[in-house]
Amino acid sequence: MTLSENIARLTPSATVAVSTLAKKLAAAGRDIINLSAGEPDFDTPEWISSAAIEGIRGGRTRYTPAAGLPELRAAAARYMTDGTDHPAEAARVVVSAGAKQSLFNACFCLFGPGDEVLIGAPYWTSYPEMVTLARAEPVPVAGSEDRDFRLTPDDLEGAATARTRGLIISTPSNPTGAVYTKGQLGTLAEWARDRGVTLISDEIYQEIHFGGGGAKAPGALDLDPASVGHLVVTNGMSKAYAMTGWRVGFSYTTAELAARMSAFQSHVSLNAATPSQVAALEGLAQGGAATRSRAHMFEAFRRRRDLVTRLFDELIPACAYVRPEGAFYLYFRVDGIFDGNLTCANDVCARILEETGVAIVPGEAFGDPRYARMSTASSDEEIEEGVRRMATVLAGD
Ligand code: PMP
Ligand code: GLU
Repeated sequence: MTLSENIARLTPSATVAVSTLAKKLAAAGRDIINLSAGEPDFDTPEWISSAAIEGIRGGRTRYTPAAGLPELRAAAARYMTDGTDHPAEAARVVVSAGAKQSLFNACFCLFGPGDEVLIGAPYWTSYPEMVTLARAEPVPVAGSEDRDFRLTPDDLEGAATARTRGLIISTPSNPTGAVYTKGQLGTLAEWARDRGVTLISDEIYQEIHFGGGGAKAPGALDLDPASVGHLVVTNGMSKAYAMTGWRVGFSYTTAELAARMSAFQSHVSLNAATPSQVAALEGLAQGGAATRSRAHMFEAFRRRRDLVTRLFDELIPACAYVRPEGAFYLYFRVDGIFDGNLTCANDVCARILEETGVAIVPGEAFGDPRYARMSTASSDEEIEEGVRRMATVLAGD
């Protein structure tokens, strides 16, 4: 069978692949600690699941409009623009099957052959693939390590060409946990505006933010609408509401692009699963209960960030890492133990899995083979045992 050029450069998601392998090894009886894919270890809050079950019993089992239930679009618009000067207009929101689909819709509708898209590196593994699937060219741009890889306009200027059409960042970042300040985001947004570049800001970890006294991380919608150019902001239910499997994400942009993305989605998947949309609506509508559920998860994520950084300082002091200000990952260097046999993070992570049973994702997936990423969305015990085991390889004893 001859396959299309559309997928000539496609590779499977490395984060998903490592996690799948880890689950397979565990099912075969190996003692595995799976710190690969970033997925909250909490169950979806009961009151959200109940709303979906009631919805199913009440017949909410049919198609919805492509862009989502009108009341969910309105609730997502309020959720994303709350406290900002951007309009909470439902027409600007498209609900999709996860933020992954929101991002894909945006890339596919905005970019095409001949276009270049700058991607803040290290990057979430799916961004370059999405840009490539749109037949555009991904251009990774790494910020300085001293700034925890956060980009500046100078970094972007050095990588931009006349063909640059987009810029994709995540804040809080997957994989580093770095968070842009509002001022830093403003300089990027202004650079993008002046260059006629669309800024895609992936804010799925916005609520998992350890600075700012519990406030959400700053986002692109916090910027003055008059100072930003074309913008797509993505968010969703997976992380902050522990709803990964429900597959509900949102994008907020101009009403014009939202209509185009909705048209595109109407031919691809049509709509995010209807019971999942009912659940998401309940999650966004119940402010008080949601705040309580999130506070509990948030405290655990912060405690684990403190735990994992303390363990690294104590057990593997030679391994430098980015101190996470948000999300639930630790991104750390593994090149200190490179030798004739271990020449890249893929090798190191394979050795760690083989010798200690700990599954982590090699930095190749994020554009930097000197690093690896572990998820801290696991129990304290698993994190502690995982780091102790990794130390037997990484500390070189
Ligand atoms: N963006 C980032 C940075 C992520 O880590 C994830 C995790 N899967 C997503 C987007 C997509 O999330 P989902 O499709 O589950 O909403
Ligand atoms: N976003 C998570 C991760 O980076 C889940 C897996 C995926 O969709 O990439 O591990």
